Amino acid sequence: MADKKPFEIARETLKQITARKLVPTPANYQSVYNEIAGIPAVGNFPGDVLRDIAQALPTKTPGQQKQKSLLEYAIDRMNWDGVKTALVAYGGFVPAVSDSETSSAAGRSVTVGSASAVPLTPEFLALIARILEYSQPALGQDDERFAVQLSELVASLKSSEVDVLQLKNQLLNFSHRLSFVAEDQAEIKSGLLKLLQLVFENIADIALDDQWLQGQMEALKQASAPPLSLRRLDDVERRLRDVIFKQKDAKDRAVQAQEEMRQMLATFIERLSELTQSTGIFQNKLEESARQIEQAKTLEEIAPVLREVVGTTRAMAAQSQGSQSELQQLQERAQKTEAELAKLHQELDRVSIQARHDSLTGALNRKGLEEAANREISQMRRKDSVLSVALLDIDNFKKLNDTLGHATGDMALSHLATVACECMRPQDTLARYGGEEFVILLPDTAVDNAVEAMTRLQRELTKRFFLSGTEKVLITFSAGVAQVALDEEPFEAIKRADKAMYLAKRAGKNRVLAA
Ligand code: GH3
Ligand code: MG
Ligand code: MG
Repeated sequence: MADKKPFEIARETLKQITARKLVPTPANYQSVYNEIAGIPAVGNFPGDVLRDIAQALPTKTPGQQKQKSLLEYAIDRMNWDGVKTALVAYGGFVPAVSDSETSSAAGRSVTVGSASAVPLTPEFLALIARILEYSQPALGQDDERFAVQLSELVASLKSSEVDVLQLKNQLLNFSHRLSFVAEDQAEIKSGLLKLLQLVFENIADIALDDQWLQGQMEALKQASAPPLSLRRLDDVERRLRDVIFKQKDAKDRAVQAQEEMRQMLATFIERLSELTQSTGIFQNKLEESARQIEQAKTLEEIAPVLREVVGTTRAMAAQSQGSQSELQQLQERAQKTEAELAKLHQELDRVSIQARHDSLTGALNRKGLEEAANREISQMRRKDSVLSVALLDIDNFKKLNDTLGHATGDMALSHLATVACECMRPQDTLARYGGEEFVILLPDTAVDNAVEAMTRLQRELTKRFFLSGTEKVLITFSAGVAQVALDEEPFEAIKRADKAMYLAKRAGKNRVLAA
């Protein structure tokens, strides 16, 4: 090695650092460089000495054990920073807490024992037990040992005779394991989310009907992006159910139509072949088409072949007057099937999007609203909180349609939905209730605050004009707001909001009234 040139040694050093998975610190670089260059290890990493020190450290508590393993890990990797961090953290576990008196860790004092000023009362311990029990669902069921530790600890906390020493040991062991379990859970959650995103990204590629699906997948990707909430997960679930249901339906029907088309084409070509025994050029073309159809996996692949065959047929038909009517019949049937397929796809696009979301504005439709309202009502009852609903109706929308056209009216509806979504909180839900009427569900919001929220939306609309070409159009609405009573059905509350909205119209429009 000693006869190597410096740049070769440097290159080999970098390779070795990577191969040995060493942290690229100057110390590691120096040590490996010396080793390759054959330079005696002067000022090298004192691994052996440090290992001796690590060996001598006491490991009475789980905290000490953990830091000792981290220290050994850092020594193995000749990582000075790691050694320092492990030793400093180890210091935090020394001296061990004395059992009968006060100890101070991180500036916080905990007093134990019967003679103390603030005794560990049963209420206090029961409170800790309750906190632990509440946190259990968040920590998962995967680690059995942890579950046992937790239930033992809770039992000790609730027991009538508390053994402080035992309890302290239990708490120490528990906190040690908790640190790993909590970290695991966080990693599992983010891992699952990544997986979900990956599925959504890739699902569109393997589907038959990708245009519709891409829209749905985009919505799913957005809905599953952190931070997650139960509401958004619910939205993901509902959209995914739509996708699965419609996709299965689309696939079954498309596969069936595809098969029919394939059979029809086979007959078609067979007939043609019979007719063209003598004309080599048609024969070859048809054989090639037959081969392509056999190999085709999708309708998209079949379509151009079909066109080719239809072209061939036309030429053939000119030559073979006798078979013309039969061929034409088959041709018409093939075209009809193709048209049916196109219609089927269009219909699927429409039906799928309309399953729970309105295709024009992207807001929930009536069905989606019904589900969301039921969910919010049960949340309200469960959490003993409040829920308000707002019903808003665009002012003079007919006039806007009449003057600017229906298509511009559609764009105005989308504009309102976009501004409403952006101006509302993530937990609020927007639904298209009818033509130019929208419902907004506002969880955890009393009626006064809901009125304020609607007024805010009105203000926002005066700032964000709707543009029809270059013309600025101000969209205003009238709204009624109702707070859902505990025993009320969601649609009863919407009806009350509707009445208030009607009064707002009567009072001159562009205003919000509480029911
Ligand atoms: P008001 O202020 O009293 O609410 O008057 P208005 O004109 O908004 O109310 P009216 O109920 O008389 O008219 C609503 C109009 O909304 C009639 C209908 O043509 C139009 N409309 C309903 N759905 C759509 C839609 O999807 N797109 C478009 N462009 N217009 C729609
Ligand atoms: Mg209306
Ligand atoms: Mg209106």
